[in-house]
Amino acid sequence: MATEALRCDLPGVGRVAVRIRDMAINLLVGNEAPSYSFDLAGRLIGAFVDGINYRRGLDNRVLSKWAGPAGIRQRRWLTPTEAEAFLAAAYDLAERVAAATDDPRLTALRGWDAAALRADAARFAAVYRPVSILPPDQYLALVIQATEGCSYNQCTFCDFYRGRPFRIKAPAELAMHLADARAFFGPAIGLRKSLFLADANALVAPMNRLRAWLDVIAEAQILPGAGIYSFMDAFDVHRKSAAEWAELAARGLRRVYIGMESGDDALLRWLRKPGAVADGVAAVRLLKSAGIAASVIIMTGIGGDRYAEAHICGTIAALNAMPLGRGDIVYFSPFVDQPDSEYGRLAAAAGVRPLTETAAAAQEAAIRHGLRPYDPAQPPQLSRYDIREFIY
Ligand code: SF4
Repeated sequence: MATEALRCDLPGVGRVAVRIRDMAINLLVGNEAPSYSFDLAGRLIGAFVDGINYRRGLDNRVLSKWAGPAGIRQRRWLTPTEAEAFLAAAYDLAERVAAATDDPRLTALRGWDAAALRADAARFAAVYRPVSILPPDQYLALVIQATEGCSYNQCTFCDFYRGRPFRIKAPAELAMHLADARAFFGPAIGLRKSLFLADANALVAPMNRLRAWLDVIAEAQILPGAGIYSFMDAFDVHRKSAAEWAELAARGLRRVYIGMESGDDALLRWLRKPGAVADGVAAVRLLKSAGIAASVIIMTGIGGDRYAEAHICGTIAALNAMPLGRGDIVYFSPFVDQPDSEYGRLAAAAGVRPLTETAAAAQEAAIRHGLRPYDPAQPPQLSRYDIREFIY
């Protein structure tokens, strides 16, 4: 990746180093902090200021993260007023640096005030329904909303797509969506590393529709050669044959993310999760046999004290029955009880007590401890998936 550096000295700020990379522009004040990163369209992506990490979403919200006592990660969304002040400071610096260096490559950083940022967020909202969630390794994907919503939408703990009827887009509508996305991202599209077929269950679409979508994506020449990734419910994987999955793999499908949540059938039933543990195990086997990597998402803390032991034992057994290896990912996602969720009401009625964050972390540690990789020489990646840190 090519990197070019400029420097300027600003009164009241000091030395600012400017790194112009193929995908982003970084401003580094003094000894590299504070620092700000912008995409090539001039949108602030993130910043590091006074020990706090900031991420800005395309919807113009700003998430702050920092290390709290004992190194435990803390996070908070800035209020709209705080976000506006934070962004004003970032763009004031960008404006001054662009003026001082007079480098045409920094022109995209200029002219962003609160109204322009709000207008940009409105453009984003015109192209996309809210991007509710992505796996952590896909935060920099180019989201393609080939479907909207979740085809099931009844898990008691999940409100990602509540109120969004499931809808499969026609190829012509998808072509328009891609054109709109390309226009919205502009030169910043190069920051996107992969294509994520959204929303929750796009691969449930019939094969003929999937083929047509892949034709549209190929014709659009949008991120040519980029791998395709998507969520899928385990129960639905069997709706396609091994030959059909292999065909999708040949056309770029790289990894499928399965929200398995638990290896305990009783807990899955209580969560109203479709399918059983055996479906998850079989789904991973089927995908892997077709040459598609798998990611299995396990929720920690879900089911509270009532299901804790069976959740750990069942999940270890299920994961150990899967042929997971290099390129696959097991995610541990701490359960977050959403306000007004059905889960919360059912748990209260059943006397299921929530686990503390520490107890949920211990559950993750216990599951990790019990894992026996299918091939010890090529274990899957194990990683944390904190939905409170998702931002697109
Ligand atoms: S957890 Fe997945 S399958 Fe269940 S409602 Fe949410 S998106 Fe749909």
